[in-house]
Amino acid sequence: MDTVAAQGFVRLIRRIVGLRAYIAFVLAIVCAASCDDGTEALQVGQFANFATEDPAVALCEGAPARLDRHVRRVHEFIGEPIAESLQVQIRVVAESICPKSACYSPADQTIYVESLDPESYVPSGRLEHELTHALIDRAWGQSIPSLTEGLAESLTSSRWYSIPRPGTPVRAMLDHIATQSRSLGEIEAHFRKVYGEDFGAIEGRYLSGANRCRYQLDICELLGAESVGASWSESFAASCLDPDFYGSRAGGNSWFATQRTLRIDTAGRYRFSAPLPLALGPDGSPSNSRAVLVRCGDCNEQQIRDVKGTSDFALPEGVYTLLLQPARDSLISLRIDYLGGEP
Ligand SMILES: [Zn+2]
Repeated sequence: MDTVAAQGFVRLIRRIVGLRAYIAFVLAIVCAASCDDGTEALQVGQFANFATEDPAVALCEGAPARLDRHVRRVHEFIGEPIAESLQVQIRVVAESICPKSACYSPADQTIYVESLDPESYVPSGRLEHELTHALIDRAWGQSIPSLTEGLAESLTSSRWYSIPRPGTPVRAMLDHIATQSRSLGEIEAHFRKVYGEDFGAIEGRYLSGANRCRYQLDICELLGAESVGASWSESFAASCLDPDFYGSRAGGNSWFATQRTLRIDTAGRYRFSAPLPLALGPDGSPSNSRAVLVRCGDCNEQQIRDVKGTSDFALPEGVYTLLLQPARDSLISLRIDYLGGEP
């Protein structure tokens, strides 16, 4: 992790969050006072309460524990203690009252989502993203949307994995939000008024170090890394009902994933074997399982590779996460073999 850059970003956010004069500048997402009370309440995890209008929707067994871990890691990252009373309300509603299909509403400190795991999102990724907004809001108060958005994007991998180009989280979010809700000129004028320089200059300092990237809080759990050695294998049943899998289910469909953090102690070529099942979608089209190998580390070390069936990779020493999203319940056998040194 690029700690210096991360801390710089945190300091920047703190400065801005501390400026109460900016409250008027904050995009307050005004939600209705309460949801339709046809919701079904379900206590999940230590820090989140989950309720849904649709009883067919449920979290996978491992999702609550994953969300709890995310809460702890975000607090560790921003350097704030977890409030004893922290409980974030998450509501699955048929029709979102947000500008989009999901949001955190500071007005009633509740997360609203129309679906827990939309297509192209990493299972549980959307919840982690919105949860990050909730945690920042609780810890620091309301902030400028583009910056809190940049922070939430940086700390979670809500979309299917890719390493964003430098500048992506903050600048792209700013531009995107500006065109939706206010003019870019208006936002930049506020920055100039308070800091005596424009957003571009402030952002430029943030971006002037190493390439910016996600901080992999959610994907790289370094403490639990297992050594691959000369050979590593594992077989297990993949199911939303298994506590090892996070994600959700709705009716007969599940979107679930699991991950293994692995340590390569000897650089060289490795063969990954991850035969994952194929499933047919509701329209009969094949829906592929996904497996990716993420190299954990600083921005200049991070790398993401697709693992398709059997794949050989030349890997430097380091910590890696193998992320698996099976298309359906299945038995999975993973295997990694050391093939030798670099050719
Ligand atoms: Zn967001």
